[in-house]
Amino acid sequence: YHDPAMQGLARALLPVEEFEEKAAIALAKEGKFQPTKEEENHFFLIQLLHWFKTSFKWVNSPSCDFCASNTHHIGMGEPSAEDLQFGASRVEIHSCELCGTVTRFPRYNSPAKLMETQCGRCGEWANCFTFYCVALGYNARLVLDFTDHVWTECYSPYLGRWVHLDPCEASYDTPLLYEKGWGKKLNYVIAVAKDGVYDVTKRYTRKWPEVVSRRNLVSEETAEEVVALLTAIQRSKLEPEELDILEQRDRQEAEELSGAQASPETDQHLPGRQSGSKEWREVRGEMGVQHIESDRSFCPARLCADEHVGKIYQAIGLLCSQERSTAEKELALLHDLLIKLKRQPFRARSAKLESTDETQLNFLQSKGGAAWLDGIGMKQASDGSGGMQVTLKEPPGKAALALVTALENVEKVTKKLASQDMSSLQLMLQGRRLCGGLVYATGEQMPSGTASAAFDGHYSTKWEEPGGAKGATLVYHLHGNASQHIVGYDLTSANDCPERDPLDWMLEGSCDGGKTWQLLDKRSGELFQERYERRCFIVAKESQFPCSVLRLQFAAVRETVKTSRLQLSSIDFYLHN
Ligand SMILES: [Zn+2]
Repeated sequence: YHDPAMQGLARALLPVEEFEEKAAIALAKEGKFQPTKEEENHFFLIQLLHWFKTSFKWVNSPSCDFCASNTHHIGMGEPSAEDLQFGASRVEIHSCELCGTVTRFPRYNSPAKLMETQCGRCGEWANCFTFYCVALGYNARLVLDFTDHVWTECYSPYLGRWVHLDPCEASYDTPLLYEKGWGKKLNYVIAVAKDGVYDVTKRYTRKWPEVVSRRNLVSEETAEEVVALLTAIQRSKLEPEELDILEQRDRQEAEELSGAQASPETDQHLPGRQSGSKEWREVRGEMGVQHIESDRSFCPARLCADEHVGKIYQAIGLLCSQERSTAEKELALLHDLLIKLKRQPFRARSAKLESTDETQLNFLQSKGGAAWLDGIGMKQASDGSGGMQVTLKEPPGKAALALVTALENVEKVTKKLASQDMSSLQLMLQGRRLCGGLVYATGEQMPSGTASAAFDGHYSTKWEEPGGAKGATLVYHLHGNASQHIVGYDLTSANDCPERDPLDWMLEGSCDGGKTWQLLDKRSGELFQERYERRCFIVAKESQFPCSVLRLQFAAVRETVKTSRLQLSSIDFYLHN
């Protein structure tokens, strides 16, 4: 892990710039437009985790070397010199179900080799992921669960504590995943790093007395001594200043772990194991228990940092108020400009327009063009020779967030214009979208399926309610407790799983901070025909009244027998014009 050449190779291999932009966008969604270095590093790590989950491959049995058919495990083989060079002392032998050829599956331990093969089971996954973390400068540990699983922990200066990361599951900061989600009976959970060996079992259980009763390898006293001895050996060559930092961190962690038993279980929904085939997971008894209906409490309130969405909808409204041919021309110009900007490093986005680009120049100098530039957090200035320079006005993360919203909507509106059916955009085109509220829901799929993800103006993200199929609630407090007439709202279906689309719901409003509620709109049997479909719902004039809190109560999804979940890509509320 600590070979500088290997680390350099890893950094060259990883799409670092892409992670940085995604981290900046995630921060901007939380209203952190000028993040600290610690915040940036923390959010970067989550991007690395998501990327890793999609780039590394899970292998139960390798496909046949000869004909690529399925194989099955028939025993263990002898490691070759090359296998041993890359730490594969164990070599599995798999036989082809079609041609009978024998395929070897060396279980490599060397992260250098794993960067190349990019496949394996949890051992290979956690090994390679931990190495990437170390190579990128994170303080990372490989965590061994003696009941047969491996994952990673990183120290987050942002949170001031160690954070659980499971690359196989793309799980972040959900240490009770195994005991509560998978139903594992844990005993020893030991973290290994360059600077020591740590018994971190208490982080992963809320049933310590039960866990202790299963810890029968040695006495608790001996276990503690062994861990301390190994740590002392690892640290024997460190300078006093380095030791000071480590010991301070040790004390902090010991305090956290001894208090862990008293801290409440998280309300997060913890799923059964996702990695590996269904059969493999069933054999291991890690499928988890079905979500149990209980008294629903709410997830934390989240700020909607969505000023950009309102601005972009206004710009769309201006653009579409023109003749259709003009609108189409301007959309094409915009699309070119946005793509050009998107291709550049997000911290220094700019575009240069020559004096000969007359149509572009005229558009960007018009009221409509200025609204777009403002919407995507850019500004324009004359370049002194008849041309124009477009540069960042807002912080890079905020502009990057808005750029995605602009690009997705330009493409959507272009399609809608071509189909000549703009009815689903009628509220959007009026340009009076409600922004900057506080939102909370009965459930959220962490880390990315939060309630605020339905308000970020991105089609690609969604609010996912893990237990919402038979009932879910989302509450929205207007910015500054203002009272407003709501004239309607849009709901947009998510990327996948139509069975999770809402079917029946009602929208209520409150003018006394949520003590009493009055019906604004009620729908039943509503079907979304497509993925990412925006549907527009008008609140009847006689039902409108000034409200400061809104509540969407979903009664059922499309197919409650097929799913426990509810999801929506976007929710937009609109004000009186
Ligand atoms: Zn074969």
